[in-house]
Amino acid sequence: MTVKTRFAPSPTGMLHIGGARTALFSWLYARHFGGEFVLRIEDTDKERSTDEATQVILDGMKWLGLDWDGEPIFQGARQDKHIAAVNQLLDEGKAYKCYCSKEKLDTMREKQRIEGKKAMYDGTCRNLTDAPAQSERSPFVVRFKSPENGETWVKDLVLGDVCFPNEELDDLIIQRTDGTPTYNLAVVVDDADMGITHVVRGSDHLNNTPRQIQMYEALGLNVPQFAHIPLIHGADGAKMSKRHGSIAITEYREKGYLPHAVNNYLARLGWSHGDDEVFSQAQLIEYFDLAHVGASPSRFDQDKLDWLNAHWIKASNPEDLVDEVNYFLKIDTTNGADLVDVIPALQERSKNIIELADGARMFYVAPTEYQEKAVKKNFKEGTWALLDTFMSKAEAEDWSGEAAHQWIADICEAEGVNMGKLAQPIRILIAGVPVSPPIDVTLGLLGKEETLKRIKTGIAALKG
Ligand code: GLU
Repeated sequence: MTVKTRFAPSPTGMLHIGGARTALFSWLYARHFGGEFVLRIEDTDKERSTDEATQVILDGMKWLGLDWDGEPIFQGARQDKHIAAVNQLLDEGKAYKCYCSKEKLDTMREKQRIEGKKAMYDGTCRNLTDAPAQSERSPFVVRFKSPENGETWVKDLVLGDVCFPNEELDDLIIQRTDGTPTYNLAVVVDDADMGITHVVRGSDHLNNTPRQIQMYEALGLNVPQFAHIPLIHGADGAKMSKRHGSIAITEYREKGYLPHAVNNYLARLGWSHGDDEVFSQAQLIEYFDLAHVGASPSRFDQDKLDWLNAHWIKASNPEDLVDEVNYFLKIDTTNGADLVDVIPALQERSKNIIELADGARMFYVAPTEYQEKAVKKNFKEGTWALLDTFMSKAEAEDWSGEAAHQWIADICEAEGVNMGKLAQPIRILIAGVPVSPPIDVTLGLLGKEETLKRIKTGIAALKG
């Protein structure tokens, strides 16, 4: 059997960290087994679905590298199949039309509440032989005839075996009065039709699963395996919300997170592999299994995510950071040092990609102003003479970062001052601020022509 999983988000709200983790687990499971992973956008709720939310799903998944097989499937486009299944159930007497009005259902619920019973449909229309007279009936919904006795077991790969007594499951609506099929019906038809072998989803869907199993059976379809992933809670143990950093997944990019750092973090949020914390993407695929997904909710830990982000910024190949750095740089880098050569100078010192991009900018854009405070502190009487000596040396000799560093050291030694007396003014003139990677690396990357040009322009500006 080839494993086939799916991610089936509803574009009614933004894809956030919890949804992204569900997508990741589902994707990892398929990739681990060399199987298939499909993306199905469940846009059946036309009123609440938005294009913006759909875009966040597509962008977020692409950003995280959770590639899906084939084209994304839009559930709304499959309505004919859903309706055919409803009709099949009606024809076979496994579903029925229910004409109960809203008022009637409200009264039913109120009575159950007073009697201390669970609110559920009482089956009024279940055994109707004829439709009520036109005058007495409301537009109908279609309900699934749920078995009245026995129990339905969910053999969950994460939560274990969960038993649902059938008497607690009422006859679920599978088609609304406007003719549109409901989620529980559509999801069964689609998962079966697409040959999904493993349904990996949030544990908030666990209560739907026995109903779905009953429908698979009623429709004569194979029941897939289920894996319900416990939810993510905030650091305070409460359900994850905006306050806890539950923002659209694409916002993590805006905040300078590396997609792999997010994946690594999310993988460990609920899944474990011994005491390991750091995993490459290849290792995640190799090690991931559902057996080691914990059954209790996980807590979101911002510090750990930040730590992994800094870790992966240091540990990644510079080539793998180029796209993310460019996302923030948004400038032409063709006339300066190669970005893959600039990145290593900044990896150690950057906590996030925004910092890295900010540090890289000076290699492509000359300063237009010079930080006043730094100029005041670092430009003294003797500074101009030191710079002159440096310039005549630099203009005459062959250039390299190491050589330039040595000239600075020699000049300062001859004058009996520390290196900062010349290195800091040079930094300010080439970067506008007294911060840059080590001076040899910085000057090497900037090159002779650009360094000398910036120093000259800077001196003229400051003297003027
Ligand atoms: N569309 C459902 C949701 O976004 C998920 C359905 C499923 O995974 O079965 O909550």
